[in-house]
Amino acid sequence: MKNSILIFGDQLTLENTALGAGVCGRDVVVLFEARDSATAHKIKRVFQLTAMREFAELLRKNGWEVDYRKLGDTPCFADALKDHLERHSIESLLVMEPNNWSQQEIIKSIAASGVAVKTTPTCQFVTPREEFFRFAKGKKRLLMEAHYRQARQKLGILMRDDGEPEGGSWNYDAENRKTVRDWKKDGAPKPPPAATRRRNQSPMETEVAAEVTMWFPEDVGRAEGCWLPTTREGALEALRDFIENRLPLFGDYQDLMLQDSPTMFHSLIAAPLNLGLLLPMECVTAAEQAYKSGHAPLAAVEGFVRQIIGWREFVNGVYWLKMPDYLQSNGLVATRKLPSFFYSGETEMNCLRCVIHEVRDTAYNHHIQRLMILGNFLLLAGISPQEAHDWFLEMYIDAHEWVMAANVLGMALHADGGFMATKPYAGSAAYISKMSNYCSSCRFDPNKKSGHGACPFNLLYWDFYDRHADRFASNPRTSMMVSAWRKRPEAEREIIRREARAFLAGMT
Ligand SMILES: Cc1cc2nc3c(=O)[nH]c(=O)nc-3n(C[C@H](O)[C@H](O)[C@H](O)COP(=O)(O)OP(=O)(O)OC[C@H]3O[C@@H](n4cnc5c(N)ncnc54)[C@H](O)[C@@H]3O)c2cc1C
Ligand code: SF4
Repeated sequence: MKNSILIFGDQLTLENTALGAGVCGRDVVVLFEARDSATAHKIKRVFQLTAMREFAELLRKNGWEVDYRKLGDTPCFADALKDHLERHSIESLLVMEPNNWSQQEIIKSIAASGVAVKTTPTCQFVTPREEFFRFAKGKKRLLMEAHYRQARQKLGILMRDDGEPEGGSWNYDAENRKTVRDWKKDGAPKPPPAATRRRNQSPMETEVAAEVTMWFPEDVGRAEGCWLPTTREGALEALRDFIENRLPLFGDYQDLMLQDSPTMFHSLIAAPLNLGLLLPMECVTAAEQAYKSGHAPLAAVEGFVRQIIGWREFVNGVYWLKMPDYLQSNGLVATRKLPSFFYSGETEMNCLRCVIHEVRDTAYNHHIQRLMILGNFLLLAGISPQEAHDWFLEMYIDAHEWVMAANVLGMALHADGGFMATKPYAGSAAYISKMSNYCSSCRFDPNKKSGHGACPFNLLYWDFYDRHADRFASNPRTSMMVSAWRKRPEAEREIIRREARAFLAGMT
């Protein structure tokens, strides 16, 4: 008797272990587009749907029978699946461990309806969930660095024969923090345009873009101009392009933000990686190889490896450890509504304006823009973590709940009470002006702490430490900020409080 192999839209790899457990020519693959109620950037939809349709073609070319339902075929995933199961008399449903909680709930409900479900291990992460749970057991706080070292040792990445890390150090972050001044001193290097940005739209993509425009007219952005690869070949080419052209300087300028260079030396691989078009180990070994061949320095390669087997696996582990309650975290009791300029980009704060316009145009910002401009602002302004989470999930081409939850709620907004970040990522204008060129074209003055023209980041930064002084006074990583604030004359503090309140009240 045959099986059905359920493949979710973010499991698009021939290495999918559910395919491995099935028999080509006998079993049928199930791949459904979902017309869910959540809104999403149109480019994100085009990217994901085109990748799904390309993958279905690839499966058919490889001899698989595929039951593929397009947006217009069935409005809801559950109905489509019910219909599939009624048409096919199957022995069991094979599915690879899903990436998101809601997908797991779907599987549970299928199993509860009497269908035999067999779940196979994921190939999209290198740290099995159980292993992460063992790592986390009994710990009040988790340190990414501890997880990362364990993963490096287990996988033997950038390790010497004597068991020590390559170069003698686990982490070269200190070398990876060049400022805008360093960048200018280096001759202001800019990367060649990424290969992904030069490609032409495929006929399939044009078709999908038209459908997305028709089905989701109210969603953010344009459906045209998807700039990321939607096939395995395209994703491999994008990875090769990064390793060859941007990896050598990736580390140096990893934290730098430039107004006219939104992607800098970043890899742009998160979106294809999160759909399964790339797998983590091939990205890591390609980077390691670039180090071994002398093409890229250790600091850059180690920095990149840490992002993939360190941060990416860590946020995934935290998600599965803490779900489903994690999504409701609000440790700092932040309740303000998301301001409307997060959609329109209409704000006089140049850093926010640039970054929001970029994400509206492309569905992408790089990490430091997400963390130290957007996340920082949302943290300081006390925006509801749930509203912030939904906005990130909607806007980014690489966004999925499993990766968004810990990044937004844990890392950026400190909403989990510091479970995964020992201190809040709060920064004043001093940080932004050091690490970017936004301030030179802004109407606000990054050096002004209060009064006319003072940068709102400065007002909000001190107001944040004022509001949360008791909580952060006892944290060794933030106590200095609290005592610096408390040492200021009361009259000065009152001016900052008043101006911060006025700024927040004027935000709609
Ligand atoms: C508020 C916020 C929201 C984020 N939302 C997402 C998201 O929806 N999807 C997503 O994949 N990443 C997210 N990240 C992590 C990171 O910002 C993106 O992975 C990265 O910017 C994607 O661009 P890139 O591929 O050019 O990455 P690079 O800067 O080139 O980094 C290399 C790779 O490392 C991985 N990586 C690095 N940092 C992280 C991290 N913190 N968590 C997970 N993976 C990481 C990604 O796979 C990335 O492709 C978020 C970070 C923050 C602070
Ligand atoms: S001055 Fe303030 S608001 Fe303006 S760009 Fe700099 S940090 Fe942003």
